[in-house]
Order: sequence, then structure tokens, then C-alpha cells
Amino acid sequence: MDIAFDLPKSELHLHLDGSLDPDFIASRAVDRGVQLPVEASKLREYLHVLKSKRSHIGDSVSTNSNWSNFDFCNQFLQTKEELKQATRSLCKKLRDDNVVLAEIRFCPALHTLEGLSVNDVVEGVVSGFQDAEKSYDIKGGIIICALRSYGVSHTCEMVELAASWIGKGVIGFDIAGDEGAFPLNIHEDGIKKAVDVDLPFTLHAGEWPENTVRNIELAVDLGTRRLGHGITLCKDNALMERVASLGITVECCLTSNVGWKVPSYKDHPIRKMFDAGIKVCINSDNLLLSGTNDREAYTSGEVRHLFNDVGFSWDQVRTVLMNGVFASFSPEIDKQWLLDYEAKIEKVLM
Ligand SMILES: [Zn+2]
Repeated sequence: MDIAFDLPKSELHLHLDGSLDPDFIASRAVDRGVQLPVEASKLREYLHVLKSKRSHIGDSVSTNSNWSNFDFCNQFLQTKEELKQATRSLCKKLRDDNVVLAEIRFCPALHTLEGLSVNDVVEGVVSGFQDAEKSYDIKGGIIICALRSYGVSHTCEMVELAASWIGKGVIGFDIAGDEGAFPLNIHEDGIKKAVDVDLPFTLHAGEWPENTVRNIELAVDLGTRRLGHGITLCKDNALMERVASLGITVECCLTSNVGWKVPSYKDHPIRKMFDAGIKVCINSDNLLLSGTNDREAYTSGEVRHLFNDVGFSWDQVRTVLMNGVFASFSPEIDKQWLLDYEAKIEKVLM
């Protein structure tokens, strides 16, 4: 029996462009006439070797080594059909790992290089997700991201776009990207707009190891219900208490952080947050681009790391899994669904 695999799981923090399947990339490359540097089975290794080379300059580890890998992936997500197929096949892969609730995020502005409008882009992704809901018995929806480096007018545009798709497959909004160079306050007006139109939102904050506590504080001040990563939260006890008392859920991404933003699983602040009464959940961030060549991020793997390497008991793992589904933005996750989900966990853990 493989408990981590058998447990029904959720993914609240998963980027579409960073989670492409190598076989999907290979088939798109053939149709597009793009010569891949290596065959599909070696693609993940190829991208991670590149990431590693870019990140280790002397003794320092750069936190910005993955962006060109995202650009590489995004060249295969420029038509509606590509966006639809990528989303559908990602859901299939998740369902095969016993993920029953998935919230998939992406920034529409990255998929307009060949003439799609941002509306076309959202339509492609949403139709892929809706197809998957019918075929694979998976719930959830789409989160639209704004990019930190694009400025506040872009953020406002993405908020409006997300709001116009609420109830039609989109369930929330997020701000993602280079936190080191672009603090959250640049986007304050955009976030306030999301609050004004009642758009559920989460924010990447406290992901970069230096000078990001203020980003978490601002996210909390602006009323966020969830935080992406929140690694630096543990540097400020008063803020930790505030996050705990407000019931904000922190979307932790263990494998994504280890080796880049925290030294090891054991050192990941998820333990400190959990012990402080903060609602934490676990997520993969990117199935293809997170982690290293030797450490792949996938949902049941995250559960295994939580148990084996961070030292959570199965009882604590149960709490973490429940935190994930409770924090979902999907209106379909109602009381009955939650009861059924809890019963499924119980069956595996009894
Ligand atoms: Zn992320």
C-alpha cells in the first residue's frame, strides 16, 4: 500500500507553463517544425541542467535561473488548441496521481505572441479544464496571474479579465514572477481593484529569501485569503500570529523551494508555520520546471516528503490535506464535497 499515492489530494498552486509534459512539448515541436535539443525523455534533464548552470555562479545561488525555461515552454502554448490540450493533459496527469481538486494558474499575456487575444487564451485554457472535469472526475478551476515585471496597468487588465470570467471557469487571481526585483507594492492598485470587484485572490509573497516580509505584510493588509510560498513569514513572529488568527492559508511548495530558497526539506518553514497554527497546504508549483534534475515535483511526492523528510505524522498530513481543499476558490467545493473528501482520506489512513 502506498499511502501518499492513495490519499486524495489537491493542487492549489500549479503553473500551467511550468508543468507541461515532455511528450506534449515533443508533439508540438514536430507540428511547429521546432528542432528540440534532445529527445522527449531527456528534456526534463536538459532543462534542469541549464537551470543549474545558470544558478550556480561561484558560491552564490541565483533565484532567477528558471525564467528562460518558462520562455522555452511558452513557445508551445500560443494557439487555443495548444492551451486546451496542455490543460487537459495536465489534469489527466494529476488525476492519475489521485489529485481530485486542481487550481491551475497562468498569465494570459504570455500566450499572445502569435495573435491570440487574452480572451482567446482564457477560452482555450478554460475549455481544456472543462473537458477534463467531464472526462476525469476532477474539480477546481483556473487562476489568472498578473506578472510582477509587467507593471500595474497590466495587473489591472488581468484583474478585469479574471473578473469577466468568474463563474465561467475562472475562480481567482494571483500575482506571480520575480519578487526579488519587483516588490508587491508596485501592484497595490491592481490588488485593490480585485478587492473592489470581489475577486478571490492569492498572492505570491515571501518566496524570495531576502527583503520580502513586507510583501507578505502588504498582502495580508490588503485582505488576501491565501499566500503563495510565504517562506519568509517565519522571520516575523507577530506577522505569523496575524496570518494564523486571520485563517490565511499558505500554499507551500516544498520541492520547488528546496535547494533554491531553503537548504533542505527539514529546514522548510512549513513545520514552523504549522506549529504556529497557520493553515498550510502542499503543492507542486511546476511539474516540469520545479526541483532539480534528481528531485521532481509531483503531488504524491510532496506528501511523501512531508512525512519522510519534514517529519509530519499522518494525522498532521490529514490536516494539511484538509487545509488545501478548505482554501479552494472553487464554488463547487461545498459542505457535502468536503465531507466526502474527508471520508476518502479516513479510508486510506484507518
Ligand atoms: Zn508559483
